[in-house]
Amino acid sequence: MPADLKGVTPGKLPESVLRPVPGGGKLHHRAADAWNAMVAKAKADGLELKPTSSGDLYRSYDSQLAGFKSRYVLEPVVGTSTKSFEGKTWYLKKGMAMMATPGKSNHNLGIAVDVSSAGEAKRLNWLIENVKDFGFSWEVFPSEPWHLRLVTGDNPTPAVIAFTGGASAPVVNLAVAPPVTLGVDPNKALQQALKNKGFYLGEIDGNINTPQTQEAIKAFKVKNGLASDSIVGPKVKELLGLK
Ligand SMILES: [Zn+2]
Repeated sequence: MPADLKGVTPGKLPESVLRPVPGGGKLHHRAADAWNAMVAKAKADGLELKPTSSGDLYRSYDSQLAGFKSRYVLEPVVGTSTKSFEGKTWYLKKGMAMMATPGKSNHNLGIAVDVSSAGEAKRLNWLIENVKDFGFSWEVFPSEPWHLRLVTGDNPTPAVIAFTGGASAPVVNLAVAPPVTLGVDPNKALQQALKNKGFYLGEIDGNINTPQTQEAIKAFKVKNGLASDSIVGPKVKELLGLK
């Protein structure tokens, strides 16, 4: 789970962690990066990937509630499944697909997306082959092959990093994330900046001689067309916003 989702109310995410995706709808910035990367790969493979609707990415509490109440009723329905919500038993209407109760769906966290026509053989086979490369999982497979959930938290897969170039810095939620401590400890600021761009996954300890930090600097430089070393020059600082 991305760190900036800790403590948020599902369905009531701050705008700062959400990002609009092409075609409509929003996702958590980590899921948006992964989704956009996967859509691009599919396109390169001659396959179109799109959400079932713009409401099937991030879903606010209110839209989950509206969707839930359009599918579930308090009047008992024989032979269908039930959900407990607000202390009552709700019955699924005949012919309706199941839906999580408001606040309980991964869609309320912005880390799930439903893929249109996921069951078509060609698309299904492509998804089976590729979703893991982008950090998605099918926890409800095979009953809901369209529902993908991001499971890599704040650690994008190599395929996602390759797509974003580490350049699409996540929107940092200042309410929960420490600001880059410029001027306090430049080494920590460097690690934090690399972390924000998805290149560094370790602790912000100010020790930049660790192999992990050195590799992160090198990967960032290579990705930006600079020399394949871990020397932090003015250009690197500029690209990292460290000045
Ligand atoms: Zn779904």
